[in-house]
Amino acid sequence: VATATRRRKHWGWGFEDQQPSREQVGGIARAVTDRLGFAVDEVEEPVPLDAVELPEPRLKPPKRFAELFSADRYDRVAHSLGKAYRDVVRGFRGEFPNPPDLVAYPESPEDLDVLLSFCADEGAAAIPYGGGTSVVGGVEPRMRDRYPAVVTLDLGRMDRVLEVDPISRAARIQAGATGPRLEEQLREHGLTLRHFPQSFEYSTLGGWIATRAGGHFATLDTHIDDLVESIRAVTLEGEWESRRLPGSGAGPSPDRMLIGSEGILAVIAEAWVRVRERPGFKLSVGVAFDDFAAGAEAVREIAQSGLNPSNCRLLDALESDTTSAGPPGKALLVLGFESAHHPVDEPMSIAMGAARAHGGEPGEIKGRAGEQPGPAERREAPPAAEPGDDPVDAWRHAFLFAPYLRDSLVACGVLSDTFETAITWDRFPDFHAEVMELAERAVAAASPTGRGKPRVSCRFTHVYPDGPAPYYTVLAPAWRGDEVAQWDEIKAAVSDAVIDAGGTITHHHAVGRDHRRWYDRQRPDPFADALRAAKRDLDPQGILNPGVLIDP
Ligand SMILES: Cc1cc2nc3c(=O)[nH]c(=O)nc-3n(C[C@H](O)[C@H](O)[C@H](O)COP(=O)(O)OP(=O)(O)OC[C@H]3O[C@@H](n4cnc5c(N)ncnc54)[C@H](O)[C@@H]3O)c2cc1C
Repeated sequence: VATATRRRKHWGWGFEDQQPSREQVGGIARAVTDRLGFAVDEVEEPVPLDAVELPEPRLKPPKRFAELFSADRYDRVAHSLGKAYRDVVRGFRGEFPNPPDLVAYPESPEDLDVLLSFCADEGAAAIPYGGGTSVVGGVEPRMRDRYPAVVTLDLGRMDRVLEVDPISRAARIQAGATGPRLEEQLREHGLTLRHFPQSFEYSTLGGWIATRAGGHFATLDTHIDDLVESIRAVTLEGEWESRRLPGSGAGPSPDRMLIGSEGILAVIAEAWVRVRERPGFKLSVGVAFDDFAAGAEAVREIAQSGLNPSNCRLLDALESDTTSAGPPGKALLVLGFESAHHPVDEPMSIAMGAARAHGGEPGEIKGRAGEQPGPAERREAPPAAEPGDDPVDAWRHAFLFAPYLRDSLVACGVLSDTFETAITWDRFPDFHAEVMELAERAVAAASPTGRGKPRVSCRFTHVYPDGPAPYYTVLAPAWRGDEVAQWDEIKAAVSDAVIDAGGTITHHHAVGRDHRRWYDRQRPDPFADALRAAKRDLDPQGILNPGVLIDP
């Protein structure tokens, strides 16, 4: 199906034609009760687009480049929110309090330059927008009332792979290319970026760079940072382009300054990124552990061994149960190795030895040689995981299906969100115990009673030689109509817990507007001053994504 003919839902995940029918959501409601033990009293329906109340746009597109703009109802509503749980709930209920006045669709860096100048002349806030999958309020125009207008700059039309350098294994790619778009173009060259965040289908290269996204690899090149060779960006004060270099010691890195800048300094137009051959050698295995702590010790040994598995995700028993991945009551390590160059039997065998030494019970090793199906194909119709599947496949399917399922959980009155962090190994056991205890308490206190026991589970998404990145999932009966207040109460408590215990407010979800309070406590004050000074220089009127990272 040509994606150009399909429209994404204005409120939730996926395309409009992927919204499950009322009967299908009814089936999910029954599964929620059977699998999670939550009573579902009613299945609600999302508010249709036509019923959404929308203020008139406060700005008219200039005649000379009107074709770059849209003031269309769908466009303005669909660009009002990101895709966090609190966004999906509000969108489901037809609440879009902060729509942009206009949405602009640049097709080139030159268009970006023109659009930024237009916003500066009008004093309008300008919000760079990739796939809109932000989970931290990064694209929501919450500053709407403080500016005469807001223009969202959607880079979706800048989605091409412009150049490939097969000798250095690098590609120049426009910032608005989504995961499937850039992978399908790289595939023609036998290459891949292999950056697969869970939001891969809709998030973009520019968004990944702007938020320091975390992708496919559980070790080594986990963040997009490691894949960026150079960046071309447009600022209000002119173009910013760094040299293509494999490495450089020439002072602070201009790329590192833009990586993670979340649209407050510049609009990223394109980047040279490090690509690789598609892996032909792949092995994966599920390893069961009696408890999470033993699994964590095994993961530490593997992370410090220099073996660098591509997958090394440890699920606690509850998370494994929720995703039907591993044997009941056991933690599960999803371990994988891949290479385009050489067989990976030996590192797999050494890693399994390490896992066994910590009490791990490996299942059957699954391996595939030759060309793998691309993620675009894999994700077209995400299947639900069935108990009894191979653990690695079951986990992967549940992982891919989760954002689709979340929309239906909202309809069934189930709160479903996550929070994530990173911590060094020496502090991990105490940190995890403290965060889990506080999270369970906060979720119980904020949730209705008598409709089932809330669940807080944990997995490692990425692991480093000096520590893991724990990722917590919360599932609970929701206060219907009051879900945002319920989640905000939980989120404030767990964020306090994470920061008080020495973790980071985010490992890969970015800061946006929602993490500001805790980010302000985490970052050194002189650094914040330096960032403010850079912002003043590059954006003297303070119009680029105001309120994200620092105050405008
Ligand atoms: C279901 C789900 C799963 C997710 N899984 C992951 C995951 O596995 N790993 C992960 O890292 N994140 C994940 N995320 C979070 C999100 O997908 C990432 O933050 C992603 O990098 C955002 O990309 P985007 O193109 O959608 O950016 P947007 O949401 O459009 O924007 C995000 C931020 O970047 C800025 N921005 C976007 N494009 C540009 C540009 N060209 N120039 C300058 N600034 C720009 C925006 O202004 C905003 O502040 C997930 C989100 C959801 C909803």
